[in-house]
Amino acid sequence: MLTDLHIAVIGGDARQLEVIRKLTELDAKLSLVGFNQLDHVFSGSSKKEIDELDFTEIDAIILPVKGTNMTGEVETIFSNEKIVLQQEMLKKTPEHCIVFSGISNQYLDGICTDSGRKLIKLFERNDVAIYNSIPTVEGTIMMAIQHTDITIHGSNVVVIGLGRVGMSVARTFACLGAKVKVGARKLEDIARITEMGLKPFFTSNLIDEVEQADIVINTVPYLVVTAKVISKMPLHTVIIDLASKPGGTDFRYAEKRGIKALLAPSLPGIVAPKTAGKIVANVISQILNEELQLGKEKS
Ligand code: NAP
Repeated sequence: MLTDLHIAVIGGDARQLEVIRKLTELDAKLSLVGFNQLDHVFSGSSKKEIDELDFTEIDAIILPVKGTNMTGEVETIFSNEKIVLQQEMLKKTPEHCIVFSGISNQYLDGICTDSGRKLIKLFERNDVAIYNSIPTVEGTIMMAIQHTDITIHGSNVVVIGLGRVGMSVARTFACLGAKVKVGARKLEDIARITEMGLKPFFTSNLIDEVEQADIVINTVPYLVVTAKVISKMPLHTVIIDLASKPGGTDFRYAEKRGIKALLAPSLPGIVAPKTAGKIVANVISQILNEELQLGKEKS
């Protein structure tokens, strides 16, 4: 339980509602900033303007996935107000106050470091990335179905990268009956791909692996699907690039050659915002419980 913890939820989209719901269930006291157009009322929570927050009482601050922009502005879809998180605000919080964000930038890193407050970047955590790979794979399957005229079953799929997303993608497409090859660069990953019953190759040899590809799924956030690689693909190949913007594909050349190449960012928030919110909510509540609530009980 998070009884007696005062948490400020500042900005966000539909995913944040799951976080609010979970923290409410766990009995936290919530101040919601940037939610004045939200009709739903969560018990134990109050809507506030950022200037009305008493930062000296706040045990944790939860920001949206993107955190802030480079001038401290926080996005919200539930309000038209301009919300800016400033260093002076963080300095007023108790020393144990934790700031949560999906990702960060120089501004947010800077104000947290300079005010001595712990910043947890949720999307850099292995647990969040692995849980998030589940809706990411479902979104990838959706795109593969929408953009091909063949079944996934029996198709030739090339997955590039065996990280948190690549592993889930490779395993799931194989379970659906695709013939899956996976590119990696570490020997231990080559061993794992073999253990999974899939065909391994070194990503540096990608050019030799795409001649039969129906679907190429990239998870490497660097340019790996180069013009040379694309030039070897059959014209019906569909490239689904899951890597963060700008992806790892030469989209210009793909278009020139007439190969369908799709950059597909943020699939969890698109195909399963409720699940995506629950993933973040569960991890935040576990961290708050471990770091703040258990600390309070011990002292
Ligand atoms: P990850 O666990 O870090 O995996 C990245 C993979 O890329 C690893 O196999 C890594 O190999 C490989 N790699 C990195 N740099 C490389 C390079 N220069 N050359 C060859 N291989 C390289 O990351 P992840 O969690 O799977 O996420 C992958 C990407 O998808 C990220 O950009 C992430 O932001 C994005 N993502 C997108 C969605 C979406 O909805 N589209 C959802 C979640 C994540 P090593 O292990 O050898 O470094």
